[in-house]
Amino acid sequence: MSNTIFQRIIDREIPATIEFESDDIIAIRDIAPSASTHVLIIPKKPIPTVNDLTEADAELVGRVYLVARDLAAKYGIDASGYRIVTNCNADAGQTVFHLHFHLLGGQQLGRMNSHAPSHSTGRGNVLLEAGLVVLLAIGLAIGFNAMNPKAIAWLKPEYKRVEASQEELDRILGVSNTAAPGADASQATQPSTGSSTTTADVTAATPMATSAPSAPTPATNNSATAPAAAAPAEPAFVAEPGVIREIKLDAFKKLLGRKQVYLIDARIPEKFAEGHVNGAVNVDGNTVEANIPQILTIPKDRIIVIYCDGGHCELSHRVADVLKNFGYGPILIYTGGWAEWTASGK
Ligand code: 5GP
Repeated sequence: MSNTIFQRIIDREIPATIEFESDDIIAIRDIAPSASTHVLIIPKKPIPTVNDLTEADAELVGRVYLVARDLAAKYGIDASGYRIVTNCNADAGQTVFHLHFHLLGGQQLGRMNSHAPSHSTGRGNVLLEAGLVVLLAIGLAIGFNAMNPKAIAWLKPEYKRVEASQEELDRILGVSNTAAPGADASQATQPSTGSSTTTADVTAATPMATSAPSAPTPATNNSATAPAAAAPAEPAFVAEPGVIREIKLDAFKKLLGRKQVYLIDARIPEKFAEGHVNGAVNVDGNTVEANIPQILTIPKDRIIVIYCDGGHCELSHRVADVLKNFGYGPILIYTGGWAEWTASGK
């Protein structure tokens, strides 16, 4: 059986923000926090579920609670309050089968009433049950809406949409009046904005195609421009972990073909197979959270450029958010997407 994601974090195969570690316990920030403070306290021993605990584990579980107590004090939520939750198997929604304890806090967590018994009687309970059914229906609608590309905008997560300023673009593109030797002159027309990287950064970059994780073979109706065969040295760029900016067609064109660029097509695989920009790797925004191991094969020393359909498509932002959490950046989202790209005749 393959290792769980938590085992891989314990073994340092996958990065995580570690909040505490001892010989037998590790505590990490949850990648998709459900509260302002959301930490996972994980016994290192690979126990799949609570059902698999034995007498011998009693002390270990006790120590988990002491770690939770200390972390709560560290975050200053000990007095305001917090919750410790462990999900066991399908009905509880357990997704990672390596025993772990969610430490949640830093905000009002609400009452834990979603487990109210369904066989209760009496008028008050009937009303409560009716209310729960309505809440469940709303929850399902919101969930469905969030997954649906044609979702109603107000029910979808709000993505911060910041367009790259000219200054940021210049910096990311490495435009400076002391651009790297051999740099494309068209990319070196702006004044320097403080790029601090050197030509060594440029030459360190490896060609995109060699490290792309299992990129499907480009489709025959692919309409992108191929990178020049003997590309000149590229201007340096500044790595900016966590930075997500939107870009327009002009900037997208300038970035294409650069070795430093890691190009991601965030659309569904079927659309990717029909056609995509040359060199793009498919990371489906709908399933990105379930494909963290693929995400982690992406080299860190790249400018990440992502596109999806264009228009109201948010798949690029979903991929960008996950990449941001893993410390990638700069991350540039080409908002015109496939629709504008194909319409531009490229
Ligand atoms: P469960 O649903 O099994 O009770 O909780 C699993 C938790 O692990 C979820 O809250 C999920 O967000 C978190 N998680 C899943 N994959 C990763 C990961 O790669 N890194 C981190 N830090 N948390 C993860």
